Amino acid sequence: MNSVQGKWLLHGWQGITFETPADWELAAVQGDAKKGYLSLDDGRMMRLELKWEPSKSSLAIAKTVDHHIAQLQRKAGKRAPPLKVRRNLKLVRLRGKDYECFAIENEVKAYNLLSRCENCGRVLLLCVLLEPDKEEVIFQRIVSSLCDHPYGGKVKWGLYGFYFILPEKAHLLENTLKAGSIELNFQEPEGEISVARIGLAESTLRRQKFDSWFHERYGKRLAAFRYSTEKTKFKGHLALKVKGGTPRLRGLLPILRRKEYLRALAWFCEVTDRIYVFRTISKAKDSQTFRRFSAAVECH
Ligand SMILES: [Zn+2]
Ligand SMILES: [Zn+2]
Repeated sequence: MNSVQGKWLLHGWQGITFETPADWELAAVQGDAKKGYLSLDDGRMMRLELKWEPSKSSLAIAKTVDHHIAQLQRKAGKRAPPLKVRRNLKLVRLRGKDYECFAIENEVKAYNLLSRCENCGRVLLLCVLLEPDKEEVIFQRIVSSLCDHPYGGKVKWGLYGFYFILPEKAHLLENTLKAGSIELNFQEPEGEISVARIGLAESTLRRQKFDSWFHERYGKRLAAFRYSTEKTKFKGHLALKVKGGTPRLRGLLPILRRKEYLRALAWFCEVTDRIYVFRTISKAKDSQTFRRFSAAVECH
């Protein structure tokens, strides 16, 4: 059900969080925390596009909307009829932002928000596409839920219903986003962080023990480490604690190979039929990030 009363889902990407109807799923992501783009679709059509970048000028946001619309008109071509635009729509009230809501109506209704945040300086362009008979209340709820900066040095990430929290200083390096397997790798001053959610866990663990699954999946990538695994319980689930480090090097150029420590927690949630993994490689023996954030990965 694609309405404001149906189920809604939170999305979190690069410090921006917002809610949409639950059947709108992440379709594409580009860029980084500074400047980037994402889109969602519902399997039939594009539903939402979001662009962000740092503010380049103190130009009033209404002027930026002028430019944006002129650009769209140019893109449509000289022979295209003029865009039907409704400006300055009083659909939401936002604090701490210079913003304007406007709609462009052709075959689909595109409701837009262009905003500049006084707090973080981010400029956002949000475009929500609605079918002609759908109400603008969907747009209103999305915009009301939108938050464009981290709080308290922490960032909430949310994709396909997979939620975790990381320090703001952690920068996304690479991501694998597939229905059956999500993995995101981050770099922070202390080291590396990897967070993963892997599907079809039950049938995998019927064939294979949890620790041999871990060795098979991560062994190659962790070849430089000596580590041990220990069976445990986490959130009431079967879990695996992994601890280790790079061996101390004797002899030449020890400075080039500073010792690194590995910590990982993996658990099998039978409710969602998934394995969750939180892993850090850190220069510090006791990784702060592991201690503070490994338990913040949500399963069910
Ligand atoms: Zn902000
Ligand atoms: Zn669970």
